[in-house]
Parts: sequence; C-alpha cells; structure tokens
Amino acid sequence: MSEDTAILEKVHRILEYGEICDHCLGRLFAKSSFGLTNEERGKALRIAHALAYNIPFKPYEHGNCWVCGDLFDEIPRWAEKAAVASAGIEHETFVIGTRVPPMMSESEEMLWGDIGLEHPEPLKSEMNREVGKAVSAINGKKGDPKNPDVTIVLNIADDCTELQISSLYFAGRYLKYQRGILQTHWNCRACGGKGCEKCNFTGKQYPTSVEEEIAKVPVEVFKAEAGVLHGAGREDIDARCIGTGRPFVMEMVNPRVRTADLKELEESINKSAGNAVEVRLEGWSDRKTVEMLKSHKGHKTYRILVSVDAFISMENVEKAVSELKGAWISQRTPNRVSHRRADLVRKRQVQDISVLGIENGLYRLEVVGDSGLYIKELISGDEGRTVPSLAEILASPAKVTELDVVQVEGLSNNGA
Ligand SMILES: [Zn+2]
Ligand SMILES: [Zn+2]
Repeated sequence: MSEDTAILEKVHRILEYGEICDHCLGRLFAKSSFGLTNEERGKALRIAHALAYNIPFKPYEHGNCWVCGDLFDEIPRWAEKAAVASAGIEHETFVIGTRVPPMMSESEEMLWGDIGLEHPEPLKSEMNREVGKAVSAINGKKGDPKNPDVTIVLNIADDCTELQISSLYFAGRYLKYQRGILQTHWNCRACGGKGCEKCNFTGKQYPTSVEEEIAKVPVEVFKAEAGVLHGAGREDIDARCIGTGRPFVMEMVNPRVRTADLKELEESINKSAGNAVEVRLEGWSDRKTVEMLKSHKGHKTYRILVSVDAFISMENVEKAVSELKGAWISQRTPNRVSHRRADLVRKRQVQDISVLGIENGLYRLEVVGDSGLYIKELISGDEGRTVPSLAEILASPAKVTELDVVQVEGLSNNGA
C-alpha cells in the first residue's frame, strides 16, 4: 500500500465519523504536505478521496463540523475582538492564545488515537496562527510568540478575550544617600498591607523605600500597575549606597505605555526622589537580565566606621586588620537576620581590607568582600558566630557604627 493510499484510507475512516470541515480534516495531516493551509489540504484530500473511492465529490457544507463547530468561520470575528481588546495598549508585538473548550480538544484527540494519526496539528495552534494573521492585517502589529508585548487569549467557551500585558524592564544603578531607607517596599507588620491605624492606613511598615522612590515616576509614565525593583543584592536599612551605585532592573507591571526617553525619565526620577535616592539609567532590559542579576556574585566594596572598646594603638589595629586580608571567613547566619534566614555556616573571602584613618576616635576602614560577606559580623564576631573577626584578633569588642556600600561590581556581559 503506497503512502497516498494509506492516507486516503484514513480520510475515508475519518469521513465516516460525520461531517468535518476542511480545516479540521486538513489539520489531521498537517505535517504530511507542505505549503498548503489546513483548509486547502482538507479540500484536496476530500477531492482525492472521492476520486480514489469512485464517489461523487461533495464539498463541505458549512455549519456541520462535529469537531470545531465551524469555529474557523469565525476567524474574522475573533480577530476583530482581539484587535479591539488590545487597541488601548501600546505594543508592537503580540501573540494569540486560545482556550479551547474541552469538548473540542477531546473530539480531535479521539480521532488522533482512533485513526492512528502521526502528524496532526492541535486545533489551538491553527486558531492561534490564523487569528494572529488576521489581527496583523487589521492593526499592523507583528506576531511574536517568543517575546510578545501583549498576549490575547481567546476564551471560546465564554465568547470573550483576556489580555495579558508583558512587563517592561529598564536597567541602571542606584545610589542611596540617606540611611533608614529599605531597598524594597515592606508591608505593615500589623495589617499585612491592607492599611490600619498603626501604619496610618498606608499599608506600609516604612514611609518609603528605594523601590518606591525609583518607581513613582515611571509607574505614571508607563501607566503601569506597579514597579518592582530587582537589585544586585541589597544593603542594610542603615547603610548608604554611594560610589558606583548598585545595579538594578526596574520592572513595570502591566504597562499600558512601552516607550519613553530614558534620559528624560532619569531626570524626572531624580527630581522626584529628592536627595534620598539617585539613579543612572543604562537602557532597556528584560526578564533574563533580572535572573542574571539575582544570581550575580560580584565583589562589593564598603567603607565603615569601627569603634573599638579597648585602647589599641593605630599600629596594632592596622596589624590586626592586615590579618583579615585574603582570609576566608566562616560565618554562621547572623543573630540579627536569623529569624528570617536559614541557620547555615557560609565561607566568604575578604578580598581586601585596609585602615584609611581615624575620625573622632573611630577607625575608617575600606573592605572589599565576596558577595554575601556580612561586614558588621566580620568586625564584631557576632558572639563567636563569625570566625575570624576583627574583635577576636584584637581581643576586644569592636563594632561597626556606620556602613556605606561604595562599589558593587556589575554584570560583566554588559560592561555595567
Ligand atoms: Zn472543523
Ligand atoms: Zn497597617
């Protein structure tokens, strides 16, 4: 039996199930001939079947397909719905998704199994493609299944569309000049963000955050629902972040606008953030960069002020500090964060450490450490949880009274 005969025998069995449209018939053999639409292939198979079985050719009569209920006759109507749904949202690219009623997919899957079809195309993907083409013809937007600005879902059963807007990202570095500001928004502990008397009905634990200071303007510019800050690590609430600043990506959630002049945006953000936070924007970004940023392990440079209880000469402090240079520090999760982080022992290296001078009886130190090195504990020893520490070497209590992040290494691939 030749391949053609085998296919026509399958067509014969399929036609016995009941009336089926050219789309659904052609789709069952989607990968066996190239360059035809499913509808064209379905029609050709119907003609070839009539010839082979010596019966009169009868074109498909619309209104009777037992698989799709003639869904494909409604492509123009669905395309119009999709175009209307996305009309108020700025976008260049889109993708169509179809929520197929279970009855329809069960019908075609039954045929796949019964007839033993090897290369069928699911109804959903023909619908996505054909409605996509029709939407492009209406509004000139480009179909892009990999990286769409918007996704328009056709909900067949409920006869409606659902719109999903992809997040928009831009990258830069931020500087934090004021202490007492967290990196990201924290919900009020008492009400969990709903708003209560304790938080003055703001839902916030702290009046502001780096995230909020940066997001305020772009949320308006991009008509977004929210702005989420993704930072390359974070500094403590009482630490400043100066010098080169910290790399970040800002995510705009559900933006209705996707274009802006980033230079102007930077200026407006900096004007609105006052003197607490400053940004230097570097360009547009994406989800992949956010993931790289999160797993990024760059060295960080800190400037700290250290107070030492005992009177120890500058020379001896310098000697003690030099013992920490290049040392591997074994750090058990610090007491101050142990309530929210797993209790582990980690090893981190001090790349460089030096004494810059004395200020009002306090030592000014610069430390370059592996990402994740706890600086306050490197000095205090955290009751023996961090070993070695400056306090241990000096045999005197010592602690950080002020901490600034002065440099965070960026991602090597974009030179940031
Ligand atoms: Zn059909
Ligand atoms: Zn509250």
